[in-house]
Amino acid sequence: MDITPGFVGAIGNTPLIRLNSVSDETGCEILGKAEFMNPGGSVKDRAALYIIKDAEERGLLKPGGTVVEGTAGNTGIGLAHICNAKGYKCLIIIPETQSPEKIELLRTLGAEVRTVPAVPYKDPNNYVKLSGTIASEMENAIWANQFDNLANRRAHYETTGPEIWQQTDGKIDAWVTATGTGGTYAGVAMFLKEQNPDIKCVVADPKGSALYSYVKTGELTTEGSSITEGIGSSRLTSNMQGVPADDAIQVDDPEAVRIIYQLLQKDGLFMGGSVGINVGAAVALAKQLGPGHRIVTVLCDGGSRYQSKLFNRDWLAEKGLFPPA
Ligand code: PMP
Repeated sequence: MDITPGFVGAIGNTPLIRLNSVSDETGCEILGKAEFMNPGGSVKDRAALYIIKDAEERGLLKPGGTVVEGTAGNTGIGLAHICNAKGYKCLIIIPETQSPEKIELLRTLGAEVRTVPAVPYKDPNNYVKLSGTIASEMENAIWANQFDNLANRRAHYETTGPEIWQQTDGKIDAWVTATGTGGTYAGVAMFLKEQNPDIKCVVADPKGSALYSYVKTGELTTEGSSITEGIGSSRLTSNMQGVPADDAIQVDDPEAVRIIYQLLQKDGLFMGGSVGINVGAAVALAKQLGPGHRIVTVLCDGGSRYQSKLFNRDWLAEKGLFPPA
């Protein structure tokens, strides 16, 4: 018998999928860790579980307590599922610019959702800072604090990284992914470098994020913007501090959208926007490294979370983006 003990037991152990169209085009084996197959539908289920387990173990979260978080969506969705499964309440603060699909889903899952204007991190009304303030004023509540809570990257150091190592039999040339909190990139990069320091670890970055310039020059500067959600950062989060990064690759929105539609039309994979940045960066890296290399990236979440935006041609056209017919 092979029975999984509830929702929480179904998190992780996702397939590693060969992305055939981009692999065949580049002559490299480009592999996507299928995080959209987690039971909450995204890579963030892993971090949400580790953050809650850590708070339980440290005695901070007691029965009937509330988990509070500022999130662009996927972490909140993971937290809301796990809170239901474990008997906690969930309060989510989300920027009103996030896709309506994610906001509605959070409410359907039973989380209390407060939408707030999207303002920069330095503003005290920024959604992340607000979530911390609200949590500190509540009884029996924790602030998940995914950006600076190291339980986040530990999830990937202890699970995603070892799974990739095992699934590739240790035969991997490069790891590349975009960062939101940085938990996924950091935990996997730290684990893989310990196994083999020759594995190239590369940060993928959308326009409008400061990490590309940080890795290239040591300065946090930004230019432009992106329609992708859940990735990009104007600062170095605690989860990204002290983490190896051999290089960075910037991917613009036209390339990310081209990749998303190619994955759908040629590979049968219906993916969210951050996957376009990840796979776009993997393709650019494959061209740098030359044929015959194996590159691993992340399929963070599925396309149904972005149907009204990324898969709405009128919306894309307003942004000057024209995917293939
Ligand atoms: N893609 C999507 C769609 C996300 O929601 C997130 C998390 N915000 C990421 C990528 C990045 O993951 P991480 O926080 O581990 O850097």
